[in-house]
Amino acid sequence: MNKYMKQSNLILLLVLCISGVSIAQSSHPHVHNRAIEFPDIPGYMTMKCDLHMHTVLSDGSVWPNIRIQEALRDGLDAVSITDHLEYQPHGDDIPHPDRNRSYQLAKQAAEGEDLIVINGAEITRAMPPGHANAIFLEDANKLNQDDVMEVFREAKRQGAFVFWNHPNWTSQQEDGVASLKELHLQLLSEGLLNGIEIVNGDTYSDEALQIALDHNLTMLGNSDIHGLIDWQYDVPHGGHRPVTLVFASEKSEESLKEAFEQRRSVVWFNNTLVGKAEFLTPLIEKSLKVTRQGNSVVQSLLIENQSDADYILENLSAYTLHDHASVIILKAHETTRIQVKLLQERSTFDLRFKVLNAFTEPDQHPEISMTVE
Ligand SMILES: [Zn+2]
Ligand SMILES: [Zn+2]
Repeated sequence: MNKYMKQSNLILLLVLCISGVSIAQSSHPHVHNRAIEFPDIPGYMTMKCDLHMHTVLSDGSVWPNIRIQEALRDGLDAVSITDHLEYQPHGDDIPHPDRNRSYQLAKQAAEGEDLIVINGAEITRAMPPGHANAIFLEDANKLNQDDVMEVFREAKRQGAFVFWNHPNWTSQQEDGVASLKELHLQLLSEGLLNGIEIVNGDTYSDEALQIALDHNLTMLGNSDIHGLIDWQYDVPHGGHRPVTLVFASEKSEESLKEAFEQRRSVVWFNNTLVGKAEFLTPLIEKSLKVTRQGNSVVQSLLIENQSDADYILENLSAYTLHDHASVIILKAHETTRIQVKLLQERSTFDLRFKVLNAFTEPDQHPEISMTVE
């Protein structure tokens, strides 16, 4: 944008203000940077995490410090670089016998920043069990052994949190339908598998979500980035990487680990939220601030959406709307006016909506309520 354009925009804004056009009356774009934004929920801080990414120390294309720079730009709270333990295609050019090295380099790159870097690695095997990430590791080198059950047992000995990666990956599961094999059941029975990716990169799995619900596993959504976040997710044009939103008591590694173990997470990808209603519902309700305009039978309300999600809501209230059909869209970081036909003046009333771009289980949407006073 050149200097002349900036000036003309400023003049336009002044004209609008002087002429009494109230910007709050209509939906208006809020100047918003690329940082991923969701509110805290009662009792917990909402931590934005990407726990699956690669560097040149396995099959990625960048040095670990670039992963940290990307995470800072995206406003993440925690990351784990999870280079493959058993797959080192750049090994001849970049030999590194220490499997903790990408963690150490990332940790150095994040020094002085408000970003938690977690030691992690990707256990990289044929299906079953396929790939799994172990995070909160003490020493990734000790996972470099042949017997796959022993690898998972060693991760557990170190107190790691372990999740099944991309169970829907068509290279290992031709039909894309995540399904538990005998070996997974054994891992589950020994308590060696604690979570599952229901989102990996740009793929989503309803079946993985069902497995998470059936076996009480933590739901995760991660980028599994190998190239650049900006290119993969078209960030300059409003795209975003998938993240796992984790609800922690405080911003610390210990607190995050406790939150993962207690399965307090919601997955955010492609303008869709997935998680249990006990976390999803307060997250969406806290995203929305409703303000009443005056007091009338056809009541105007302003709903400010303070999150990154464009919420698609279906009206379940006792009242119909005057300016919308039964589906409304509340755009991210914008204020939307709705008019509610109350049939008589009411000092207080409740609205209820189904959130169509959120899921608590396959084909099930959470419901939110708003009390207007
Ligand atoms: Zn993998
Ligand atoms: Zn991976």
